[in-house]
Amino acid sequence: MIPYGRQSISDTDIEHVVSVLRSDFLTQGPLVPAFERSVAGHVGAEFAIAANSATSALHIACLALDVGPGDTVWTTAITFVASANCALYCGANIDFVDINPLTGNMCIERLRAKLEKANKEGKLPKVVIPVHLCGQSCDMASISELAGQFGFRVIEDASHAIGGKYEGSFVGNCKYSDITVFSFHPVKIITTGEGGVATTNSHELSVRMRQFRSHGITSDPNDMEPRPSDEIWNYQQKRLGYNYRLTDIQAALGLSQLARLDEFVAKRHAIAAVYDTEFARMPVVPQKQIPEAYSSYHLYTIRIRESHCGKTQRQIYDGFWREGIAVNLHYIPVYRQPYFERLGFESGYCYEAERYHQEVLSLPMFPTLSEQQQFLVIDVLQKLFKD
Ligand SMILES: *Cc1c(COP(=O)(O)O)cnc(C)c1O
Repeated sequence: MIPYGRQSISDTDIEHVVSVLRSDFLTQGPLVPAFERSVAGHVGAEFAIAANSATSALHIACLALDVGPGDTVWTTAITFVASANCALYCGANIDFVDINPLTGNMCIERLRAKLEKANKEGKLPKVVIPVHLCGQSCDMASISELAGQFGFRVIEDASHAIGGKYEGSFVGNCKYSDITVFSFHPVKIITTGEGGVATTNSHELSVRMRQFRSHGITSDPNDMEPRPSDEIWNYQQKRLGYNYRLTDIQAALGLSQLARLDEFVAKRHAIAAVYDTEFARMPVVPQKQIPEAYSSYHLYTIRIRESHCGKTQRQIYDGFWREGIAVNLHYIPVYRQPYFERLGFESGYCYEAERYHQEVLSLPMFPTLSEQQQFLVIDVLQKLFKD
């Protein structure tokens, strides 16, 4: 089976992990802060807070921005469920913005129209969570401008996008957002097994996220509330937090993988370039790339239009699997999931997202995909069109 994505673990990665196992600290040692400094330095943000998943990082990001009951959060219809669940964990309402059909990212015109309508009804969102689908940045300058105009905060769900750039700078520098979140699940660009990081340029948000990550506890004497001086208070719980900590074992892998990030993204671009060239002569539509963005190419997606190629998405999907190529589908519109339907969302809510769901496929894309494997993927697709 050729998967659509997989991790690349080197001997050096393994040695770094093993050396933590032989050291004094398996967790809460020196490597988590070192990993945080490295991520922040790499992407150009002031602060980075590591968590045990991007889902946890999205949750503490929402909490840090005071998302709670009575608030509404908007995200894009085409994303992984975690981009929406983080708002629900906080007791807030969730709503979805339809996509731009060419990029698959949140559509700016639809966002603006929805904001204008919500403004009239007094139902503006507190936070908007754009998602950099496949690793290609959203139009963040426009989203940030709308944030200023309508008074909402922005969390970038950059789970796909570490190593990607927008306007020539790394995604995660938070120039156009309050917080950016990365995922280090093994199918993503770099991995810690499970893990995530939130970056921000706000000291206050970084302190709040750190506390929510670890039970709501502070051990900073300057941050504690007054207590009798004859009592020992070496920590205080100030709010209700969670145990969302990353371990030093994972941070060691993360540090080692981060050193390989540029190499990974370059390899992904080389693979994308081969697909682009071949597909220019075939009846498929790859994701459109905008000039402001340099994708990390977490995913390489194509759309199968029956009117174009005479085959349905289902036929091509099944055909690939029969040939041992495990293509995937990113994503089913979140609001069509049974849980979200029970919250009151109905099919037909986002037209472009639903068309996307019926046409899109994710092809194998990962740094260790060999030339031979990639040409097999292309040959199989050609054959499936002819059959
Ligand atoms: C993978 C992913 C997440 C969740 O990441 P975890 O690290 O697995 O929690 C969130 N959002 C998007 C868009 C993702 O692809």
